[in-house]
Amino acid sequence: MLTVDNFNFSGKKAIVRVDFNVPLNSSFEVTDDNRIRAALPTINKILSDGGSAILMSHLGRPDGKVVEKYSLKHVVPAVEKALGKPVKFAGDCVGDKVESMAAGLKAGEVMLLENLRFYEEEEGKPYHLGKDATEEEKKAGKASVKESQKEFVKNLSKLADCYVNDAFGTAHRAHASTALIAAHFPGNSMFGYLIGKELHAMDKVLHSPEKPFTAIMGGAKVSDKILVIENLLDKVDNLIIGGGMTYTFIKAKGGIIGNSLCEEDKLDLALELIKKAEAKGVKLILPIDQILADKFDNEANTKIADIDKGEAGMMGLDIGPKTIKLLSDVIEGSKTLLWNGPMGVFEMKNFQKGTVSVAEAITRVTAKGAYSLVGGGDSVAAVNKFGLAEKVSYVSTGGGAMLEYIEGKELPGIKAIRG
Ligand code: AMP
Repeated sequence: MLTVDNFNFSGKKAIVRVDFNVPLNSSFEVTDDNRIRAALPTINKILSDGGSAILMSHLGRPDGKVVEKYSLKHVVPAVEKALGKPVKFAGDCVGDKVESMAAGLKAGEVMLLENLRFYEEEEGKPYHLGKDATEEEKKAGKASVKESQKEFVKNLSKLADCYVNDAFGTAHRAHASTALIAAHFPGNSMFGYLIGKELHAMDKVLHSPEKPFTAIMGGAKVSDKILVIENLLDKVDNLIIGGGMTYTFIKAKGGIIGNSLCEEDKLDLALELIKKAEAKGVKLILPIDQILADKFDNEANTKIADIDKGEAGMMGLDIGPKTIKLLSDVIEGSKTLLWNGPMGVFEMKNFQKGTVSVAEAITRVTAKGAYSLVGGGDSVAAVNKFGLAEKVSYVSTGGGAMLEYIEGKELPGIKAIRG
């Protein structure tokens, strides 16, 4: 696998796809520079070899139009601060001016292109959405690349001698800067450190997990996680289900769920997943008790009840104390853990105990040598909120990309380089 580690950038210009899609406040200041800092090892490797870096990213969803508030000029001060050196802002992504700026870039210098999504060619919209796709392409579920997009990719590639992809969060998108540009740099396309770390973490868990391997799936809906759950059933020893998606399973099994979250059209599917787990010898563990609330509010009246004894007018917003004990024991008896999705409505203080307890059990067993991978928006938000991110083995930076990888899908941004 070609990574920045085994490439010498001396005298080379590298075009680097980073993820600088960072939050900004109303004065356009970066409020969380984690994603910028995550790209530093790769940028610094290029510079210390004696190369120069041309950084490209998207910011927000300008949908192919120039939208001032999404200009990457806003992130320049934060990138300069993190890097400790000046950054030349290109003001565009392609064109004569950008080409001459890139040509004049000296070893050790850094240049940042304007938001790639100011061009509809970055995402391939509206073509990939089907507006001008042919009937065959629509049927096949994919559109070929439009001429103007090919041109855009070619113009981007003119700027550099080699290509590095270090934007894991967009690796599941078949965009110009993630999936198409690599073809212009045969033998000179590679992963940055961040993608390298993500792939290492996911491959370790999916392909060589030390057993017992426990996956913990939570969050609101089963429907979002069906493919992930199905693929995991071939790999795990224990599959813990928690959070809102619990109730679809409980109702399918004949329990009473009152006003708890439920996907009525997924009841059969829930039963099927239970059967599949049984057939594969996977222990599927559902909560046994819950915290019932009389409204979706931190100040709601609450009581503890068995998981299958919900009540009309009440909804289950967290797992109960018996479940916390049950799950902690399973987690602490595991050697590999994969966690996606909270156990309850952790955003509300009175319903965060289940999620905190699961996070803490994961950190305890990690301290004893187990490997733990946490990924997917809300579980990452949870470990950060509770200050536990440093105590798990790896926190994935790309929720959607990670889930698709675990579903067993080929990520276009990964395939473009790995082949
Ligand atoms: P997801 O994006 O599918 O991982 O879902 C995360 C969301 O699920 C969070 O905002 C949680 O508040 C919510 N959630 C977790 N448990 C429950 C529950 N028992 N009832 C309603 N929402 C829940």
